[in-house]
Amino acid sequence: MRSVSPLAVRAASPPSSRRVSSPRLGSRGRASFAPLARAGASGDADAAPPGSAASAATSDRVSRLQNEGAYAVLAAATALERRGVDVVHLEIGQPGFPSPPHVVRAGVDAIETGKTKYSSPAGVASLKSAVAAYVSRTRGVPVDPAEVVVGPGAKPGLFFPTLALVNPGDEVIIPDPGFPTYRAMVEVAGGVAVPVPLRPDGASFDMDRLRRAFEETNPKMIVLNSPANPTGGVMPREDVEEVARLAARSDAWVMSDEIYARLVYDDDDDDDDDADDDASGVDRVRCASVFGIPGMRDRTVLVDGFSKTYCMTGWRLGWCVAPEALARKIELLVVHSVGCTATFTQEAGVAALEGPQDGVAEMLEAYRERRDFVVDALNAIEGVECPVPAGAFYAFPDVSSFGMSSKALADLLLEEGGVAVLPGTDFGENGEGKIRISYVGDMATLEEGMKRIADTLETLR
Ligand code: PMP
Repeated sequence: MRSVSPLAVRAASPPSSRRVSSPRLGSRGRASFAPLARAGASGDADAAPPGSAASAATSDRVSRLQNEGAYAVLAAATALERRGVDVVHLEIGQPGFPSPPHVVRAGVDAIETGKTKYSSPAGVASLKSAVAAYVSRTRGVPVDPAEVVVGPGAKPGLFFPTLALVNPGDEVIIPDPGFPTYRAMVEVAGGVAVPVPLRPDGASFDMDRLRRAFEETNPKMIVLNSPANPTGGVMPREDVEEVARLAARSDAWVMSDEIYARLVYDDDDDDDDDADDDASGVDRVRCASVFGIPGMRDRTVLVDGFSKTYCMTGWRLGWCVAPEALARKIELLVVHSVGCTATFTQEAGVAALEGPQDGVAEMLEAYRERRDFVVDALNAIEGVECPVPAGAFYAFPDVSSFGMSSKALADLLLEEGGVAVLPGTDFGENGEGKIRISYVGDMATLEEGMKRIADTLETLR
C-alpha cells in the first residue's frame, strides 16, 4: 500500500503549522543570503542597473536572480572572439555530438506531416507513455503516463514543481556547489535556499552537514543531483538511502535531478546489479535513484530529459515525474506559462526513447576517454588537484593553491590564456577555489585547452 502523500499532508495542515526557522521572504528580504554582483570578463547579464526606473519597478521575486554562469562566460568569450581572439570553449555543458539521425528524421517528418499545432499541455500521449515506460525500465519502478509532465527542457521540470510545492519562507536544501537554477527556482518561489556543502571529492553531500541541516531547518524539499553538475560526482547508494530516511522523517519532498543518469562511467563493477541490460536496449541507470527506494515515490519529483543523453539541448525537451495530484498542478503551470511543448519536438523525443540506444553507449565511451585525458592533464599541473568524476562530463579541479579567487582565475584563463572555464563560485560559495571544465569537446580541443590552462597557470608560479 502506498504511504500517505506528503502533498495530502501539506494540504491538510495550514502553512502556519510549519516550523519555519528563517524569516519569510518579503520586502525585508533574507538576511543570510549574500547577493554576488558579477563583473569582469565572465560578464554580467543581470537586470537593469541599480537605481534605474526598471530596477525600482521589478519585484522582490526577481531582485536576487543571477545569470547562469555558463551563459555569461559564453557571452564574454564570444565577445573576445568577435575581437579576433581565439578561445577554446570548456565552459558549456552541452554535448559536442549531433542529435542522433533517427531523432532528427522524426522531428523533420513531424513538421512535414503537420504536427505543428498546439498539443496537450502535459505532453502528447505517445511521449508520456514512452517516458513512463523509459522511467519504469531505467529506474525499475512502475510509472503511469498520468504522472509524467513534459516541458521545454528539464528546467521547467525543476521550476514548476518548485513553484507548486514551495510556499514563501519554506526552506529547501540545495547542494553547494550545485546547478544555479536550484537557488533561482527556490527564491522565485519565495522560499529560502539552504545550501549544504559537498564532501571534498564532490561525489555527495558532506553527510554530517546534511544531517545538521535537517536538524536545524524544517525543509519542505531537498534537491539531489547525481551525477552532479558541476562536480561529475555520483552519490553512493548509502547516502541516497540516508537522504530518503532524513526526508521521510522530516516529511520533506525530494527533487531528484537525474539529467545525467545515463552518463555514469562503469569504472568498477560494484553497482553492476543496477546495470542489467533489458530487451529494450535501455540499461537500468548505474546510479542510485531515490525514486526507487520504497516509500519515496510519493514524495519524490524525478527530473530528466533529452538534452544530455540524446544530445538534444536545442530541441528543448524534458520531463518530470510526480505523484498525480502534484502533476496536475504542474500541468496548470505549464498551461499558463508555455502552453505546451513544441509538438514536433515531442515526436523526436519518442524516437529518441524508443529507437536504437547504441549511440548513448558510444558517446559515454568517448566521454570516458576525454575524462581520463583531462583529469590526468590537470593533475599533471603543479598546484592542481582533480578528483576523478564518476559521471556527467565535467571535471571540477581544486586550484586554490594559486591564491586567487576562482572568479579571478577564470577571468585570467579567458583573458590571458584564451580558454573559457567556469569559476566554481558560479555554483555557490563552496565552489570557491575550484573551476569547472566541461570535457564535451573533441580531443584536439581538449588537448589545446589543457595546454593553455597549464601554460597560464605556469605564469602564476
Ligand atoms: N539540470 C542540470 C544539473 C543541468 O546541468 C542542466 C543543463 N545544464 C539542466 C538541468 C537543464 O537541462 P535542459 O537544458 O534540458 O533544460
